[in-house]
Amino acid sequence: MIIGCLAGIPLESDKLILMGFSLIIAVATFIPLKKFNLSTKSKVALIYGHIIAILFPIVLFTTNVLCGTGCMPCYNNMYSLIALSLPTTLIIGTVISLFVIPGIYIVYYKKSVLENIQINKFVENQSKRLKITKPEIYTVNTANPLAFSFRSFKSGIFLSAGLLDILKKREVEAVILHELGHIKRKASLLTSSISILKFFTPFSLLARFHYDSYKEEKYADSFAIRKQKSSKWLKSAKRKLDEFERQKL
Ligand SMILES: [Zn+2]
Repeated sequence: MIIGCLAGIPLESDKLILMGFSLIIAVATFIPLKKFNLSTKSKVALIYGHIIAILFPIVLFTTNVLCGTGCMPCYNNMYSLIALSLPTTLIIGTVISLFVIPGIYIVYYKKSVLENIQINKFVENQSKRLKITKPEIYTVNTANPLAFSFRSFKSGIFLSAGLLDILKKREVEAVILHELGHIKRKASLLTSSISILKFFTPFSLLARFHYDSYKEEKYADSFAIRKQKSSKWLKSAKRKLDEFERQKL
């Protein structure tokens, strides 16, 4: 009996068609990524789709082999085979995306390590006081004034060229302290893993770069104000960013 199942491990044509179809989707999601100038959100959606489409045949094949080896009914039943492999693909694909997409996001923004000695010294001193490892400071090559931070295995603070252009030294420091507030709060990798698991979708991870929760922002703001012993610089930095947004409209 077992030999009978094992002998049937090579894939039948319907399974091969399904795998081929998945690979066509993989190609179809990849081409627009290279060809068109898409929004970050669409890029993330395509990358996610691409990863899923590439994984699906692999998972389908593995499930097929496992079902065959175990002589389980899912081997002969296409629907139960799909019912097993599709959720597995989604889970594995999501986990992979959580690691891959932030990397792509960084490449997309053409970051480079910030060489500014003053800023680096400031971050180093503050990190020492906060007892956290100094995050890497990156410049992002865009005229849009933006700042964000993220923490995976190593944390990083991203400051755009536009932001460094329009803000004065103390205002830049206020923004950095705000980001350090985020990093300090997420300082334990466990907490950030839990927050990733909570949403369990790469889209929410992307969203975290831009829109941290209101409470989180309030915390980071008050952190910066406390460290600078004045809200003056943070306020003027925010005013400048708002002005820039208004001028864009
Ligand atoms: Zn923030």
